[in-house]
Amino acid sequence: MTRLTVPIFVPAHAAARPWAEQIAAAAALGADMIELRADVADKELIAAAINAGKAARKLDGQQLLTMVTIRPRWEGGLCDLGDDDRVRLFEHALGCGADFLDIELQAIEQSARLRQAVAGWFNGQAGTSQNGCAQLVVSAHDFSGVPMDLPQRLRRLQAVSQAAWLKMVFLARSLADAIRALELYGVHARQDARPLLSLAMGEMGAITRLLAGKFGAPYNFAALPDVAGSAPGQLALPVLRETYRVQRHDAATRVFGVAGWPVGHSISPAIHNAGFAAVDFNGCYIPLPIEPDYRVFVQTTDALRACAGLHFGGCSVTIPHKENALRYARERGLTVEPGADAVGAANTLLFSQANRPGRCLNTDIEGIRAALAGAKPPVPAGQRAAVFGAGGAARAVVYALKEMNWRVTVFNRTAARGAELVQAMGGDSMALGSKSLDDFKPAEFGLLVNCTPVGMHPNINASPLPEGAAIMPGQLVFDTVYNPHETLLLRQARAAGAKMIYGLDMLLGQAMEQFKGFTGMAPPVEVMRKAAEMALGS
Ligand code: NAP
Repeated sequence: MTRLTVPIFVPAHAAARPWAEQIAAAAALGADMIELRADVADKELIAAAINAGKAARKLDGQQLLTMVTIRPRWEGGLCDLGDDDRVRLFEHALGCGADFLDIELQAIEQSARLRQAVAGWFNGQAGTSQNGCAQLVVSAHDFSGVPMDLPQRLRRLQAVSQAAWLKMVFLARSLADAIRALELYGVHARQDARPLLSLAMGEMGAITRLLAGKFGAPYNFAALPDVAGSAPGQLALPVLRETYRVQRHDAATRVFGVAGWPVGHSISPAIHNAGFAAVDFNGCYIPLPIEPDYRVFVQTTDALRACAGLHFGGCSVTIPHKENALRYARERGLTVEPGADAVGAANTLLFSQANRPGRCLNTDIEGIRAALAGAKPPVPAGQRAAVFGAGGAARAVVYALKEMNWRVTVFNRTAARGAELVQAMGGDSMALGSKSLDDFKPAEFGLLVNCTPVGMHPNINASPLPEGAAIMPGQLVFDTVYNPHETLLLRQARAAGAKMIYGLDMLLGQAMEQFKGFTGMAPPVEVMRKAAEMALGS
């Protein structure tokens, strides 16, 4: 199991002791290890911090492990000391009972003094120190990007025979960069039996922090909530433990995610991971940030599918990649479900483990059907519906309503785009047409559907209805926007005595269909709804 490790900065002076509370907080939140960043600390403070770490207890009552790092400025730290002074401090940390020392590859390679000290301290089997306790972690960091010499750098880490664990860290500028960090595990395993931690820093590197345990990393970093981590992109300890359950991952864990740009705000990880946990499915669902470019979408999706040991089972797809997902599916020979084909966009890609081509779906359609079916009292189909908007959501809504025999009129800010949608969905007919927003007459419709972002957080005091248009009692109003839960449009509907359908019902309906595709199991509906509500803070 990967040890969740919280970095704690030990200051230069004893005056402020935030580290003491931070060690206690790390233990209380379920950390397994603390990394004391003693870049600027003196001997006394190092001893005090190690003692505080040894006194803290993990949730299971065992002692927290303590790693000591004195990172030089040239490797991204704050330490300006020379080799002799650093050797003295490391020796002191060993004497105080540190469990691990993290020492930079470059320091070991370039300083005879450090090399000699390391050889003296860690001269047992696989990096065990003379006193049989502490172990060496040898680390390499690159804050500029993927090292040009990545395979050679890995070899150099492996050449430090005294090291028990190896650590490779570099900055990821894209998800594809981060996948390279994951691929390193397979390369290393073929060359060396010692555990490796391979991390990509930055927002794009989140996948490496979420899946380190799956790839057998001996430890992984986690930040305390509201405390800056020691490297860009570190995720909060409760998020790693509770949302992603990273300590339960193993080599067989299947990986899913949500592909979009941006995806940091998505509540889909909260929904699907809660579902996986409830049915005991060995899976993890993560954000997959992919730049808005078809070529990047193809390269990244191919890289996820090809990454050895990842077991990428598929993904939800959101803005701006829904059309890209359909194009990708067609070009790669995936089975395209009729709904995705008709709507011209997909929100789900499924890849089987047996290397079969996979499937491409648009589960928004099922989400819309489920949301309408859940209306109370039930809505008799076949009436007239007004759809506001002509983007991806509107296409799925028009398709679903047409399938359910509603007669649909599209109203869009840009009238030409509304007409285009009608053409793409079968052309003007009794059952489908488009009009200018100026011609919207509420009394003509039994159902109003908002498919624009109007009213969405943070612009919550906006409504998509044209000025002066009033909702009528008995009408059904469906807002696809789900944040906030009750939009201004739905508040207007409630005040008018109309029936309401919430965007969250659609979101959950489409997520349930995806869940079936990802797991082959029935979705735990209430658990997933609760997770969504909690993530939205409603
Ligand atoms: P999209 O493809 O970008 O289309 C947005 C549509 O809204 C366009 O027709 C656009 O009109 C119109 N629009 C944008 N801003 C407007 C404004 N200020 N006033 C009037 N019209 C405006 O987006 P989408 O994928 O269809 O998503 C639209 C919304 O649906 C999202 O914001 C989301 O809240 C919701 N949605 C919900 C779910 C769910 O599961 N509940 C799923 C998907 C989407 P123009 O053509 O004039 O630009």
